[in-house]
Amino acid sequence: MTDKLAWIDEELKNLRETGFYNLIRTINSPQGPSLIVDGKKVLNFCSNNYLGLADHPRLVEAASDAMKKFGIGPGAVRSIAGTMSLHIELEKRMAAFKRVESAITFQSGFTANGAAIPALVTKEDAIFSDELNHASIIDGSRLSGAKIYRFAHADPADLERVVKEAEGTYRRGLMITDGVFSMDGDYAPLDKLVEVSERYGLMTMVDDAHGEGVMGEGGRGIVDHFKLHGKVDIEVGTFSKAFGVVGGVVAGNGKIVEWLRQRGRPFLFSSAATVPDVAACLAAVDLLEESTELVDRLWANARFFQQEIRALGFDTGLTQTPITPVMLGDVQLAREFSRQLFDEGIFAMALGFPTVPVGKARIRVMISAAHSQDDLEQALDAFDRVGRRLGVK
Ligand SMILES: *Cc1c(COP(=O)(O)O)cnc(C)c1O
Repeated sequence: MTDKLAWIDEELKNLRETGFYNLIRTINSPQGPSLIVDGKKVLNFCSNNYLGLADHPRLVEAASDAMKKFGIGPGAVRSIAGTMSLHIELEKRMAAFKRVESAITFQSGFTANGAAIPALVTKEDAIFSDELNHASIIDGSRLSGAKIYRFAHADPADLERVVKEAEGTYRRGLMITDGVFSMDGDYAPLDKLVEVSERYGLMTMVDDAHGEGVMGEGGRGIVDHFKLHGKVDIEVGTFSKAFGVVGGVVAGNGKIVEWLRQRGRPFLFSSAATVPDVAACLAAVDLLEESTELVDRLWANARFFQQEIRALGFDTGLTQTPITPVMLGDVQLAREFSRQLFDEGIFAMALGFPTVPVGKARIRVMISAAHSQDDLEQALDAFDRVGRRLGVK
């Protein structure tokens, strides 16, 4: 009898042969500036832990206190019996923090997109999407059944071109863009995209997963950065990056948020976030509202690292944020570079096709407020040594 799963062996073999098989490293330490990775202590330049909150004592304490009071599991989906006072408090605090009407939380940023997009548009409608938007936007868009039009990356004129092309063929239109793009570290020209969208009556949505806790005043995100409160209908965010926990949020227009409580499918059909997660998120909001110190340190670290790595002769591409691509071009070179950095005690990921275009392979260095000056200098020295050894500079 033939093995009905033999095709998986074939596919996996294919992945291994073409170099696309993901080798997953195991971390055996808290998510701090350094990590124990596969048993080796290395400085961590891979995480989205922008503010160092993932192991922050205030978050740990808040989670543990809340568990003593409320236990762990929510016991149900939000719309049945899973909405606890903690969830409501977090939603109120997020709306206030982001200076918008209302907010609703989800289990992750990924599910927030899966909830929001199909609730706003269906098969009679159109989505105008930046060509480099995140996978969760792409999946949420497909799930909606709306016709998807891609516009050239961060290009308001091209948005206008595709909107004109589609005019008259759809009922409702929705413009969606990432806030900060995680591969290059550049951000959307949101003011201009919103201007075009307003002209054509489009609903507007930005997924600010990498801008939350990073951009705007005290980390209030890209809408705050551009002072577009009330002009962007919804801002999707995540608690898994700068906030150091896990979870998703949609903040913005109150009517849309109310609609998502009725029609956001992961809100209705997937259990609520757990007590320790929500309590830790609340502690993260407290920290961000108390002081801009962590956000300021993140940017100071990023400015220092980017200035010094450029002075060493490396190209940091398009970045405008703490995400620092070190452009190498060839994917094999980038992988070897990352391997040698690891041997030198620096953990930084190589990215190649299909994650980034062919010939644009890079090492992506994720800077955090948790890095000390000494950590950054160690990384710069390692880049310098490996760069020389590999003849990159
Ligand atoms: C990371 C990311 C997500 C997913 O967020 P999770 O909370 O980890 O599910 C969604 N959108 C963008 C743009 C992201 O970068």
